[in-house]
Amino acid sequence: MDASLANGASVNVTGADPHEALRSVFGYESFRARQEEIVAHLLGGGHALVVMPTGSGKSLCYQLPALVRAGVGVVVSPLISLMQDQVAALRQQGVRAAFLNSSLSGRAKRRTRQEVRSGQLDLLYVAPERLMTERFRRLLGESEVALFAIDEAHCLSQWGHDFRPDYLKVARLRELFPEVPTIATTATADEQTRRDLLDRLRMSSRDLFVAGFDRPEIRYTVTLKRKPQQQLRRFIRGEHDGDAGIVYCLSRNNVEKTAQKLSEHGIEALPYHAGLSSKKRQRHQNRFLREEGLVVVATVAFGMGIDKPDVRFVAHLDLPRSLEAYYQETGRAGRDGQPADAWMAYRYADVVRLRKIMEGDLDGDGNTEYAWTKRHKLNALIGYCETSACRRRVLLKYFGQDPDFERCGNCDTCLSPVETWDGTVAAQKLMSCIARTGQRFGAGHVTDVLLGRDTKKIRQKGHKRLSTYDIGGELGKAGWKSVARQLVAAGLLEVDVAGYGALKLTEASGAVLRGERDVQLREDRRPDGSSEKKKRTAPADELPDTPGAKDLFEALREKRTQLASEQEVPPYVVFADKTLKAMVAHQPATLDEFNALSGVGEVKRERYGEAFLAVIAEHAAEDEGT
Ligand code: ADP
Ligand code: ZN
Repeated sequence: MDASLANGASVNVTGADPHEALRSVFGYESFRARQEEIVAHLLGGGHALVVMPTGSGKSLCYQLPALVRAGVGVVVSPLISLMQDQVAALRQQGVRAAFLNSSLSGRAKRRTRQEVRSGQLDLLYVAPERLMTERFRRLLGESEVALFAIDEAHCLSQWGHDFRPDYLKVARLRELFPEVPTIATTATADEQTRRDLLDRLRMSSRDLFVAGFDRPEIRYTVTLKRKPQQQLRRFIRGEHDGDAGIVYCLSRNNVEKTAQKLSEHGIEALPYHAGLSSKKRQRHQNRFLREEGLVVVATVAFGMGIDKPDVRFVAHLDLPRSLEAYYQETGRAGRDGQPADAWMAYRYADVVRLRKIMEGDLDGDGNTEYAWTKRHKLNALIGYCETSACRRRVLLKYFGQDPDFERCGNCDTCLSPVETWDGTVAAQKLMSCIARTGQRFGAGHVTDVLLGRDTKKIRQKGHKRLSTYDIGGELGKAGWKSVARQLVAAGLLEVDVAGYGALKLTEASGAVLRGERDVQLREDRRPDGSSEKKKRTAPADELPDTPGAKDLFEALREKRTQLASEQEVPPYVVFADKTLKAMVAHQPATLDEFNALSGVGEVKRERYGEAFLAVIAEHAAEDEGT
């Protein structure tokens, strides 16, 4: 970390009014969502478990109280890269922040520890493994601690989607320092995970803060996967030419292949997965953070430390592991509040594959509550993919929210409603055929029988004699596969992954076969349906429609890039796009006017005011000259 930053101007707001600190340090006029309550709760000595979506401003919930309370706020964060950027951003705002992790020299660590002891720091970021060392505990004992903040808290719960046994040690903080206000934050935790976290952190339900999960700026789309590489390119070209985005794949192979294909077709893309050297991973991540318009193709290994506000799309070429994982991964798009896309291509074979992986993970442990939870999570995910209802509604309900709309108007099923049809008879035919063939065959063979095909397998097994042979002419092969997929999704059939994907009846099948239950199915869309998508509404923070606005914005961006690279920090750490747009809209001429913009605190006014005012003034002069 650049030492000169630490020596720059710093602010001291210990004991100040939180609104005053919000204004002078962060440059914000008002609190968002539930920030104010949470800050007040901590300042009053309380603890908090905060479940709010990515980009909703969780960091401020502990940063601000750490500044206002006496002593240092200790932030536990699982990723080193995240720490560095957060600390860089804080120092830009004049906050006395530092981190302790394995990337530092012994001397730098000693200096930081000394600063903690002598009360010269407001925020200290540490990796979880450091936290429970004898030495660190002694340091905490000798220092005044304002609060503990535990980032990515879902890693603490085995009900969460990313349980890390190591992280459990973090919960010991509550035993060792019961009086120190503690805040745990996460973007995704379902009911069960929340209860578990409260328990482990010795908090009560009064300490739980859940804020609106909705990310209205994100458009959700799920499309049937046919030729994934082509579909992905069409999506990126059509909707996100030149934008930064993340593409998730399940396997390293697929990551490599996809990155290469995109690059061959002129979309610059970098691979990222655990098989690459850590140097290469670091380099790709840094390029993604610092350059504009790059695509990263990655396994789930990528993302935890990604604090980039202007990611315009997140695409899934394979199913994520759960809706929690999906929401967290897609939540990395549009953190700046500008329109973004969450796009996924999905097919039946992916479900079978994921089930197989899951059963492998369970390893004979199939009847525990843990196994049940995993199955439940997978079913919820498939339900999301197959729904003909509003996708946003399905997501919000899954996370225990009660959306006050039926249709959001910004997901694929809302933008072009799905046709449904009465699939009861089709379901009965398929189920009977599965029963007649002994529940031992996959969808391919079963549908061949329904279609009256003359295959080798059918001849060998003597399946021409079955009463269900050749009774399915009303649908084609793709049609029957779609029926099978949707019945599995609805739990009306199941896939036996041990038996090579054989379809089996479930308890619920009986009601359909007996005609006691109707089945509604959705009409699958052609994958290229995306081209007829409606145009999105104009983003809220569009540049003003005046001559020269674009030029000024570009000039300000250039200044920002220059200042950022001089200090080796990402550009958005200097100012967010939103603040640059505010400069274009208001064209401040004085430092006071500059300070009034959202995102400009006192230290940034001092540090950058003159430089940006000069760019604005120059631009105004040019305008007058013409
Ligand atoms: P999270 O940790 O929940 O993912 P962040 O803390 O990174 O979200 O905040 C997302 C963005 O919102 C950041 O750019 C942050 O500066 C901004 N932000 C946070 N609180 C406010 C606020 N009260 N007013 C305006 N912007 C805010
Ligand atoms: Zn919708």
